[in-house]
Amino acid sequence: MALCIYCNKQAANSGEHVMPACMGKFRNSEQLHDKLCIDCNNEIGKSDEQFCRCGPEAFFRIIKGIKGRKHHERVNPFYRGSTGGKPIEIKMQHPYIENCEIFCETEEGAEKSYPARHVIVRDSNGKHHPILIPNRIRETRDLQGELELKGIANSEFVEWWLSVGDGEKQRRLIERLCAGLNGKIKWSETLPFQKTEKQNGVATFIVNSNYFQAIAKIAFHYFLKHFNQFTGCEREFDGIKQFIMNGGNPDRWVQQVKGSFVHSLNSRFITTDKYCHLLAINKNYIDIRAMLHFFVGPKIGPHRYYEVFIGKNPERIIYPQNIGHQFVYFDKPDKEGYSGRIDQLLTTKIMPCKQQLFLIV
Ligand SMILES: [Zn+2]
Repeated sequence: MALCIYCNKQAANSGEHVMPACMGKFRNSEQLHDKLCIDCNNEIGKSDEQFCRCGPEAFFRIIKGIKGRKHHERVNPFYRGSTGGKPIEIKMQHPYIENCEIFCETEEGAEKSYPARHVIVRDSNGKHHPILIPNRIRETRDLQGELELKGIANSEFVEWWLSVGDGEKQRRLIERLCAGLNGKIKWSETLPFQKTEKQNGVATFIVNSNYFQAIAKIAFHYFLKHFNQFTGCEREFDGIKQFIMNGGNPDRWVQQVKGSFVHSLNSRFITTDKYCHLLAINKNYIDIRAMLHFFVGPKIGPHRYYEVFIGKNPERIIYPQNIGHQFVYFDKPDKEGYSGRIDQLLTTKIMPCKQQLFLIV
């Protein structure tokens, strides 16, 4: 059996999903075999957690109601971060307090945001601050600790907001938390949003190197899956493997590019009436790059994709080659639990990478 391309010591006896399981199961999706040992697969798989919970893809997963493996712990990414990434933060202007924002969250499968569980406090200068109440805040002293961290320990309580899924239990918890706050409780009724009122929110994603390692991993493994002439052990790929395994400066490997890398997205060749992920490899005379655009869709979706530098082209007889696939979601998972299917993209539809964004050193 071949040796693992990462540690070069143990047998490559582990199957690896090119697309992380949290994105759902796709028909025709074959695993990458004979490349990784179980230990290395587990180690590099840790970066998937942040990709699935903290980045923009995590947000779109919720909106589209995409479920990962059943045995995975369910975490609400609006309240809890992961492996150094912060919870997803959506803020909107408060409906009646000027210069004050409220925290929002999105329900699974809903393309709308609602207020999240949080309290509004007013500091000694009269400025309002929203404070999120994740499950770890159980006592007034936890809440007091949050205020101290933000440098607003002497704030007074103004009002609370509950999440759509919250009930009497959470309401009593927040009342208890705030009752001990500075002893200056002024309860005020929370006004519900008007049904017709539409507001735009701002979503903030705070991630670290893990997030970009996960993207580099998807790109590199997708490349290995479709370019059999490479084993993955070529020394040109040492750099990307090192980054996937140990992290480092993400700018060296992953770039965000505005727009799309597919010609005329809404043509008959590409289905964008459903949500999909577009993955492609551009191998030219100099180097090999991957392009990944997640959650391309009819209404919403990030207007940017990732370009991953995989390495210089190690071939002796070099010829350019493109390959691309579309991971299309079904409207709902089919009877066998597949979330979608994979179609190959016509290579003429794939535009070459924007190499001016990257300097090879
Ligand atoms: Zn290994």
